[in-house]
Amino acid sequence: MAEKTLTTTSGAPIADNQNSLTAGPRGPVLLQDHQLIEKLAHFNRERVPERVVHAKGSAAYGTLTITHDISQYTKAKCLMGMGKKTEVLLRFSTVAGERGAADAERDVRGFAVKFYTEEGNWDIVGNNTPVFFIRDPSKFSDFIHTQKRDPKTNLRSNTAMWDFWSLSPESLHQITILFSDRGLPQNYRSINGYGSHTYSLINENNERVWVKFHFKSKQGIKCWLNSEAGDVVADDRESAQRDLFNAIENGEFPQWRFCIQTMTETQAAQYKHNPFDLTKVWSHKDFPLQDVGILELNRNPENYFAEVEQAAFAPSNIVPGIDFSPDKVLQARIFAYADAQRYRIGTNYGLLHVNCPRHASSNNYQRDGSMRFDDNAKGAVNYEPNTCQGPHQDQNYQEPALRLQGDAARYDHRDGNDDYSQAGDLFRLMSADQQQQLFTNIAGAMTGVPEEIVERQLEHFAKADSAYAKGVAEKLKLLA
Ligand code: NDP
Repeated sequence: MAEKTLTTTSGAPIADNQNSLTAGPRGPVLLQDHQLIEKLAHFNRERVPERVVHAKGSAAYGTLTITHDISQYTKAKCLMGMGKKTEVLLRFSTVAGERGAADAERDVRGFAVKFYTEEGNWDIVGNNTPVFFIRDPSKFSDFIHTQKRDPKTNLRSNTAMWDFWSLSPESLHQITILFSDRGLPQNYRSINGYGSHTYSLINENNERVWVKFHFKSKQGIKCWLNSEAGDVVADDRESAQRDLFNAIENGEFPQWRFCIQTMTETQAAQYKHNPFDLTKVWSHKDFPLQDVGILELNRNPENYFAEVEQAAFAPSNIVPGIDFSPDKVLQARIFAYADAQRYRIGTNYGLLHVNCPRHASSNNYQRDGSMRFDDNAKGAVNYEPNTCQGPHQDQNYQEPALRLQGDAARYDHRDGNDDYSQAGDLFRLMSADQQQQLFTNIAGAMTGVPEEIVERQLEHFAKADSAYAKGVAEKLKLLA
């Protein structure tokens, strides 16, 4: 292949890319050296703001293959037809660490999937945990502040974490997962993924069922002890990125079983828990997992910045046959994620190759905005309704009405809510060794926390299971 001539951004050939333009061999540099100025100025602008949460991530492309018929639940084309294949991008991440943070840290892992379907892009922006720390979205920024750096010391603060958690008992279920063996995964291939929120599926007859999405790792769950992770980080801060990238380069394609749980609207009205509460699971015994397909990752991105850093996931990206639920946190994320991308990448982030629909066309009346780098729909009509054959709505895609009831008020989400039984169930299904790990991990993370906060948290553990509180208390005495 013939070598290309180096050019400026505007395409003019560059004669010398080694020496700045100077007055005499010793300088100074002339302001006229626009090539130098362009290099310096562009370099200064190479970073976009990192994500406030989930900043450190890794991603790969792959395929969802449908293996089971669920057409009784949904008309989503990507979920219908045995053997149906849909291209996906899956981005994994840690939550609290900045972009340079180490991978092998105890933290929840993000599990965000973009399905490039023929009816538009569908995103499941989930985690490796089926629940979350909060159930009211107004607590999200407060919670994240406790995971980030103290405003004065610029250090992570155990006290802030446990102060907040001990005053927020709805966090106990997720705390129990975070400090269990599964809170420190060895790599991204060996974690499960969960949509976490309740969504809805809508079939051809416009009937709705509520649904939870699960991705079960076929590689099995693999975790580090805290002490092992210390050695991993000392040796390799990018352990999960390296593992994922190398596995795919070597043809070891990781796979997940894609499963759902479904619940009818009648069952939802009668279930013992609020089925839209993000701090609770639907028991498998009550709502068994149903297989849908296999998700496989089989292609690494060619360029990290273009395809991973600029990848924009948003729960608001849904397709016909899939819809939302009243989950309050989901409702907030429907707004917040697309808004974060508009801030982080820019108004026209959806036009970037990684984010635009690949197997459907995007037809709308949005125009202009910063960095509108396509043809801006040329001379096409830019208002609707019109008599110019512009794109128009299609009533066939109307979702079924959702009956809502209740007086508008700020309801106390802790009032009468059971924050303890599911955390206790998880504790009781752990082996003795896993329980010991849980005690050790929690006691270690309570280092330096004032006694009154520890006492308040121990009361929550005791309400889940007395052995839970006893085990942590014993480890704390040993550490004291
Ligand atoms: P099941 O016995 O049917 O399921 C237990 C689930 O717990 C399995 O999915 C298992 O995952 C998972 N699990 C095991 N150890 C851990 C851990 N340390 N951290 C997170 N998950 C773990 O029981 P139920 O469905 O009745 O649920 C009982 C408890 O299990 C719940 O209170 C909840 O804490 C936990 N759980 C439930 C899930 C659900 O959707 N029902 C999902 C995940 C956890 P695996 O099969 O991969 O080993």
